[in-house]
Amino acid sequence: MADRYFVEQAVEGQQARLLGAEAHHLAHVMRAKPGAEVTLFDGSGDEFLARVERVGRSEIELCVLARHAIDREPSIALTLGVAMPKGDRRRWLVEKTVELGVARLVPLETARGNEREGAPARLRQAVIEASKQCGRNRLMEIAASMPLADFLASAPAGSLRLFAHANERLARHPLGQIVSAQANPPVVFLAVGPEGGFTQDELDLALARGWQAVGLGPRVLRVETAALALVAAVLTHFERA
Ligand code: SAM
Repeated sequence: MADRYFVEQAVEGQQARLLGAEAHHLAHVMRAKPGAEVTLFDGSGDEFLARVERVGRSEIELCVLARHAIDREPSIALTLGVAMPKGDRRRWLVEKTVELGVARLVPLETARGNEREGAPARLRQAVIEASKQCGRNRLMEIAASMPLADFLASAPAGSLRLFAHANERLARHPLGQIVSAQANPPVVFLAVGPEGGFTQDELDLALARGWQAVGLGPRVLRVETAALALVAAVLTHFERA
């Protein structure tokens, strides 16, 4: 995929401006000169062919030549609630969920993992970088962290709601059987627990709220592995349908 640049302000009309890291990359890494053509996206779902007009010290002005509606989103809107891992694994999880096509990521506050992050602004840059690389024209939303009970309640009744839980019984009733029994749902909510796992009370609450517990096989996966395996299995299933 050709080099793509993210524009913070919605592109309307013929002018666009790159600022900050995006301007730095185009000016100082790519050494773009006036007349060079690049691809821009602004998170609206469209992408733009644009020509560099002026290269300033910290900003680049461009002329928008064409707007293209290029949809690289999955056919289902997928929200992933996950007790976030720490450090590099957290950033890695964000990057990969963008690539796979998750619409919204909700950091969960659970009994065995107390995620109480403020505004997850620093992860937004990881979303932008991954979107540039994979060609997504919509930014994955990273919501403010949420108690598990609120997250479970926030999923609409008609949606497919899957609660990943590692235990012997579920390992024998894996995900494939559950999703195969579903019509193509427009909305999917998934929940993945912390390193210590969900508690029995949390599982009971999910089941009482209409969620289905799913197993991902007999091995215990780390949080980010479980999250990506679940997202990939669900998306692959319904993208084929
Ligand atoms: N000892 C913990 C337990 O028994 O739940 C392991 C937790 S695991 C490291 C972290 C999360 O990943 C779990 O809460 C669950 O949501 C998900 N997970 C990991 N392996 C899984 C599996 N085989 N089946 C379903 N979910 C799994």
